[in-house]
Amino acid sequence: MVIGSKIKDLVKIPSLHLESQREKCIQCKKCDKVCQMSLAVQGMVESGSMSNMECILCGQCVDSCPKGVIHYSFGLPKKEAVIRISSTGNKFPTNSPPGNNSKKDYINDHSK
Ligand code: SF4
Ligand code: SF4
Repeated sequence: MVIGSKIKDLVKIPSLHLESQREKCIQCKKCDKVCQMSLAVQGMVESGSMSNMECILCGQCVDSCPKGVIHYSFGLPKKEAVIRISSTGNKFPTNSPPGNNSKKDYINDHSK
């Protein structure tokens, strides 16, 4: 199953997977408690990636979440933007450059 998942990710085959809306998460950790594989589901939500080789897609976390944060999706997993906070407090996604106001921060942070 792990090898199958790696091949699937490598050749980008659409498949059933989990997605989340972390801005709706209230950190109650009910998803952690019900996970049959003892995965840190809330941590996955927080990280912006629900991809985990050990996930068996049982759906317990989907059903237990009081805020509907986690859901099934079919296709290629979306890349969720990971927000970075620069040294001056400006927030911007790591995978896209910031606007003109924070360009200096961006260059400074990426030249370290
Ligand atoms: S159950 Fe839902 S709201 Fe609670 S920590 Fe997990 S994802 Fe967040
Ligand atoms: S679908 Fe099941 S195995 Fe996968 S993270 Fe949710 S509870 Fe855990």
